[in-house]
Amino acid sequence: MGKRHGEQLNSGEKKSSVPRSVRARRGQQSASIYFLLWTIFSVFALVVVLLFGFSQQALLKRTYKDEAAREIADKGVKIRQAVLVGPPEAFGKNNYNGYIRFLSTTYSVNVVILDGEGNLLFPIDPNLDRDDPDYKDHYDYSEEIALLLEGLEENKTDEVVYEGEDEYVYGAEIRFLGDTEMYLYVGKSLELMHSAMTHMSVRTVLLAIFVLILTFALSSAVAGWVVAPITEMTKKARQLAQGDFSVDFHGNDYGTEMVQLADSLNFARDELSKTDRMQKDLIANVSHDFKTPLTMIKGYASMIMEISGNNPEKRNKHAQIIVDEADRLASLVSDVLDLSKISAGITQLDMKKIDVSAYLQVILERFAYLKDTQDYVFVTDIDEGLLAEADESKIGQALYNLIGNAVNYTGEDKTVYVSLKKESEEAFRFSVRDTGSGIKSEELADIWDRYYRSSQAHKRPVQGTGLGLSIVKTVLQCHGFYFGVESEVGKGSTFYVVFPIAKNS
Ligand code: ADP
Repeated sequence: MGKRHGEQLNSGEKKSSVPRSVRARRGQQSASIYFLLWTIFSVFALVVVLLFGFSQQALLKRTYKDEAAREIADKGVKIRQAVLVGPPEAFGKNNYNGYIRFLSTTYSVNVVILDGEGNLLFPIDPNLDRDDPDYKDHYDYSEEIALLLEGLEENKTDEVVYEGEDEYVYGAEIRFLGDTEMYLYVGKSLELMHSAMTHMSVRTVLLAIFVLILTFALSSAVAGWVVAPITEMTKKARQLAQGDFSVDFHGNDYGTEMVQLADSLNFARDELSKTDRMQKDLIANVSHDFKTPLTMIKGYASMIMEISGNNPEKRNKHAQIIVDEADRLASLVSDVLDLSKISAGITQLDMKKIDVSAYLQVILERFAYLKDTQDYVFVTDIDEGLLAEADESKIGQALYNLIGNAVNYTGEDKTVYVSLKKESEEAFRFSVRDTGSGIKSEELADIWDRYYRSSQAHKRPVQGTGLGLSIVKTVLQCHGFYFGVESEVGKGSTFYVVFPIAKNS
């Protein structure tokens, strides 16, 4: 079975449309990975530490206040009971001053008895002068009693627990000593809680600083780990850019993405080295192919001058060879130029309706000399009047190249089969078959590449540059025509092009 290679080619390979601009190469000044990682890590860590610190503080505050409220309520009730019972014998019957001080110390709270105006009734220090402005505050509980009375009023009970100025308060209305109305005020300062909060804030700040130092170390380590393969690959990519195709990219120790990047770079290296090799081959081929006709032109010109100048028949023959070789040279030059123009997208197709049948005959005429001089046989089967929309000269070049190749590569019988047959109402097919050694399946995809030339030496009645099939491919892809090759090693190859029939034809 012959190998086919057609469909893939017709789908068209996209030209790389993104030129590497200077802007892209220079890149914008961007922050280093070190800095980016450090910023991200630090912000994240700080947010976590601060959130943790503040939530702990809020929780502690709440717990402390709840605890303080419960404690003050508990102690308040006991103190109230004790005050109502009155001081025991040991204090002296009416020694409320001593007794209340005793209760303050025992319960670690501030216990005072006030009147309705907020004047301190117990405990009184007999050594302090009530009117002394320095001690006025000591006796004056007017602000406290206002809050207490408000609390009692609101709760409509005779005892109340509330948060006062920097303290938790138990307040109760009590009657003793001749049923006088007095108020018991028991306060527990929140100072301890405030100092605990301050401590906690300091600890949070210290923790934040510690975390910042830690994230700096951690981000440096991570960035170092991430950056190392990138730096290495950048270095190798520079070597590659300078034409060193021996570089090998690998990212094995750095995770899947790095391995993929390394694989892509290795692939790019292989492709570059292939193109580089082909370009070098092209220069060698082109210079060789330029040299051959030039040598012949020079040789025959000398012959005309020295030998055949006086013999019109010989002179004309030699002059004809010079003209042919000059034509060949010119077509070689135009091949190279055309391909570079088509590939660069400079040439526009000049589409018009052409009679492919007639045009194919004209192209075949160009090979007629091979029948007479080198015994080539052209077996043709061409349907008349097949029209297609195409760029005449470009399509002519493609068909000429395909027939030229068949001539070059056909077998001992020197036979080339050319056919143009209508396939359906929509399409007709051009095909050219040779009886040569065929093309190996592994070479089938490569033959369409620019500069690709089979390594095997071959006698070449038609000059080639290794650009022929590349021109065919580019031209047919620009037209959007279906084309391809079927080949069997030892038997020959058939190249074909399917033309859509021009409408209204
Ligand atoms: P050139 O013929 O100048 O070398 P082409 O681009 O026309 O360049 O062809 C590329 C290669 O494809 C050839 O070198 C040859 O190896 C292979 N090739 C082309 N046509 C044929 C054919 N009809 N039979 C066998 N091999 C062919």
